[in-house]
Amino acid sequence: MRIYSILCFLFLSFASKAQAPKSTQSSASSKPKLVVGIVVDQMRWDYINHFKPYFTSQQGFLRFVNEGASCNNNLIPYVPTVTACGHTAVYTGSTPALHGITGNQWYDNYKQKTVYCVEDPNVVSVGVEGSPAGKMSPVNVWTTTIGDEIKLANNFKSKVFGISIKDRGAIIPAGHSADGAFWYDSKSGNFISSTYYGKNLPKWVSEFNGQHRVDSLYAKGWNLSLVKTVYEANCDGDMNAYEATPLGAEQKGFPYTLSQFIGKDYGKIASTPYGNNLVAEMAEKALVSEQLGQDDITDLLAISFSSPDYIGHSFGPNSWETLDGYIKLDAVIAQLFASLDKQVGKNNYTVFLTADHAVANIPDFAKKHKIPGGLISESSLKKELGNLLIQKGMSDKLIGAINEYNIHFNHPLMDSLDVDQDDLFEIVRNYIEQKPGILQVIESREAAEAPLPAQLRERIVNGYNPQRSGDLFIVTKSGYMDGYPTGTNHGVFYNYDAHIPLLWYGNGIKKGQVNSINYMTDIAPTVSTLLGIQMPSGSIGKPILEVLK
Ligand SMILES: [Zn+2]
Repeated sequence: MRIYSILCFLFLSFASKAQAPKSTQSSASSKPKLVVGIVVDQMRWDYINHFKPYFTSQQGFLRFVNEGASCNNNLIPYVPTVTACGHTAVYTGSTPALHGITGNQWYDNYKQKTVYCVEDPNVVSVGVEGSPAGKMSPVNVWTTTIGDEIKLANNFKSKVFGISIKDRGAIIPAGHSADGAFWYDSKSGNFISSTYYGKNLPKWVSEFNGQHRVDSLYAKGWNLSLVKTVYEANCDGDMNAYEATPLGAEQKGFPYTLSQFIGKDYGKIASTPYGNNLVAEMAEKALVSEQLGQDDITDLLAISFSSPDYIGHSFGPNSWETLDGYIKLDAVIAQLFASLDKQVGKNNYTVFLTADHAVANIPDFAKKHKIPGGLISESSLKKELGNLLIQKGMSDKLIGAINEYNIHFNHPLMDSLDVDQDDLFEIVRNYIEQKPGILQVIESREAAEAPLPAQLRERIVNGYNPQRSGDLFIVTKSGYMDGYPTGTNHGVFYNYDAHIPLLWYGNGIKKGQVNSINYMTDIAPTVSTLLGIQMPSGSIGKPILEVLK
């Protein structure tokens, strides 16, 4: 049996080598040598149509649109629509109910403390000694990822890397069995990692850090790519009281000088388009140094562009900064395509581009145009509910936490004070439901019975996890968010947060437009089908057959 297997293997490997000679001109029927996953943090689907006339390259976003496939109605099938959950859903094809990532952070009902999505006390930083910034790994993710399945399919011969400004944007997409994940340390201005992946940074990462690109990017400043009239015609005013000022309150719109941050404030680059340049340059360095896509064993490179999220939170979707950020990101993506063509060869790789979530309008911008919207504050709500419970002769400590619209009660305290659960729920529900901006408060475990349209209550069920979700779930009205007086946020099931782009290009991809409804959880099973490998363990999606040849 064993000899037979070995013979089979030898024959098959000889046959496959004979069919697919190692060259950049392989036949279209062979599998991609490299899959590149791109997540654009906070990208709304409608940006592609809005910004299309202003993209300076036909080879960035438009290469996907014109030569690849675009799924125009791709939705997020769970709440909360935030970064950690989004990256996990893309790469696991699953939802918080199964993969366990219920937020960027969550209140753990058993440990009774807040947990950050990628925190791991059992590892230490690599590339920056003693910093908590590297005590991170994917151990909190409970299901497998695309990268894990690619590796399982070939006895772990594939190479899998994740790169992002945000730790969670690099770590989660790279998966459990990754060769490396690298994220940006805002203190040192370097890309770092953790001992989960190895004792030292690879030489090419140290070399990249040695250039300290952040300083030379700061020196350039942030200037508009196109003439002012383009921004005036397509955006809200350049400076508004409802925009935040992440680059300093003294800077009143364009152009932004950044040279004042050289040598000291390395976190600021995240709120400029240059954060994308840093990530793309790291990705290109990985491509060359790790020889990704150079043989017939499929590799995975997971790239997440975080800067659009930082820019979007501060300035909103209708700002000059967002439009200019996407014009510049388009050029970065065109450059990335050029590197892939050169390094891996056209037809030898497949790329998908999506987002982890989208974003709402800034509430005061919405109000200015008579569109519904406003703020609610989870921290004030927690205080108000605490006072209310004291008035009722109970304890304010009964509210353990309010996070991502989840209210967690302190169950041990409820037991010791002999508080009736139904009474407590009733008091809290009645108080919150009379506030403006609230649609209803539902009991999380009973979400399947909630009086909401079926596809929306299903998103609450998909997001519910007994260990990491609350007892009650607050459903806001459209346009309302937990946030600050300036800037905007995301996290709910309305279309402005849940409708994201999904673009495909390359080996195995059929050119075209798909207008039927798809879900973010369909991405992983589509990649699995393309590669002929198992779907990630918790995947609930279906392959999008319209995009596959
Ligand atoms: Zn965000």
